[in-house]
Amino acid sequence: MKTLAKTKPEEGLWMRQTPVPEIGPDDVLIKINKTGICGTDIHIWNWDEWARKTVPLNLTTGHEFAGEIVELGKNVTELSLGQRCSGEGHLIGKQSRQSRAGKFHLDPDTRGIGVNEDGAFAQYLRLPAFNVVPLPDDISDDIGAILDPLGNAVHTALSFNLLGEDVLVTGAGPIGIMAAAVARHAGARHVVITDVNVDRLALAAQVADVVPVNVAEEDLNEIIARLGMRQGFDVGLEMSGNQAALDQMIEAMVMGGRIALLGIPPGKSPVDWSRIVFKAITLKGVYGREIFETWYKMITMLQNGLDVSSVITHRFPIDEYRTGFETMKAGSSGKVVLDWT
Ligand code: NAD
Ligand code: ZN
Repeated sequence: MKTLAKTKPEEGLWMRQTPVPEIGPDDVLIKINKTGICGTDIHIWNWDEWARKTVPLNLTTGHEFAGEIVELGKNVTELSLGQRCSGEGHLIGKQSRQSRAGKFHLDPDTRGIGVNEDGAFAQYLRLPAFNVVPLPDDISDDIGAILDPLGNAVHTALSFNLLGEDVLVTGAGPIGIMAAAVARHAGARHVVITDVNVDRLALAAQVADVVPVNVAEEDLNEIIARLGMRQGFDVGLEMSGNQAALDQMIEAMVMGGRIALLGIPPGKSPVDWSRIVFKAITLKGVYGREIFETWYKMITMLQNGLDVSSVITHRFPIDEYRTGFETMKAGSSGKVVLDWT
C-alpha cells in the first residue's frame, strides 16, 4: 500500500510502498478515504526540534482520517465490515488511575497515531476497535477527516458554559475558527476572534457569525465598547499559542473570567500571574478530545446545524500531497484534505 512517511531525517515526507498492516484480535483494518493535514504534520514535515525528538524515522504519519472498515479482529463484535468511520488517534493505556476511572483523555500513557505509532497517511490503517467512531450517513468523509481538530475545538469551547456569554477566541487558525463556530452554536452572545492574518480572519467570518478583529491594526477595547460589553469577555479560548495573544486575552477578560488554553507556545513564555490572581481568572489546559464525550457532542452538533464545512478550503488527490503541504505551510488556508480513493 501507499503511505506517507519520514524516510529521511530532513524536511519533507515521502511516498513509499509498505505491506498492509496485520491486525490483532481487538483491532480493525480501515481503508482510508480522506485525510486532513494538521499543524502537527507540518512540524513533522519541517523536521523541527520537537519532531526530531518525538517522531521515529520511517513512521507513517497522519492522524486525521475518514474511511471504512474492511477487516475485523476476531474479538470485534460491535462493528461491521463496510462501516464508514473516523476514529480517536490517541491510543490509551488501560492501567492508569485516570483510565480506570473512565477519564481516558487524561491517561498519561497515551500514544498518538502518526506521531508515536504508524498513522493514517496510508491506504490502510490498523486501529483498536475501541478507538473507532462510526460515521452517520449524513456526515461526509470530508467532515469525517477533520473531526480530530474539530474535536480539539469542541473540547476547548465546551470547557465552560457559553450560553449568553461573551467569548473571545485568540487565533483564527482552523481550530480557532471551528471553536468560534461552536461557541456561536452553543449560544454565546458575542463571539470575537482575533488574528494578525487577514486571510484567516476573512475565512472565520465566512464560516461563522463572528466578529473578526485584526489585532495588528484594530484596538480590541474599541470592539468591546462597540459591542456594548460592560467589562470584557466572560470566556476566553486561546487558540494561537502566541504569548501576545494570551496577554491581550487576560487584559480583555471580566473579573472571574474563565480561559481554556489549547494553543501550544513554542517554549516557556512569561505570564503576568498577578494579573490572573487579581482578576480571579480560572485557567484550564486542554489536550486532545474527551474520549468519547467530545466525539458524541460534535457529531450531534453537526447533525443539529453546526456547519464547519467551509473551513476546508483545499482538496487534493494524494499524489499531489506536496502541493497540499505547501498550501498548508503558506499559512492562509483553512483545512487541507487529501483524497486517497
Ligand atoms: P494555526 O497555527 O493554524 O493557527 C494559529 C493562528 O494564531 C494563526 O492564524 C496565527 O496567525 C494566529 N496568531 C498569531 N499571533 C497572534 C496574535 N497575537 N493574536 C491572535 N492570533 C495570533 O493553529 P491551529 O492548527 O488552528 O491550532 C491552534 C493551536 O492549537 C496551535 O497552537 C496548535 O499547536 C494547538 N493545538 C493543540 C492541541 C492540544 O491538544 N492542546 C491540539 C491541536 C492543536
Ligand atoms: Zn490534528
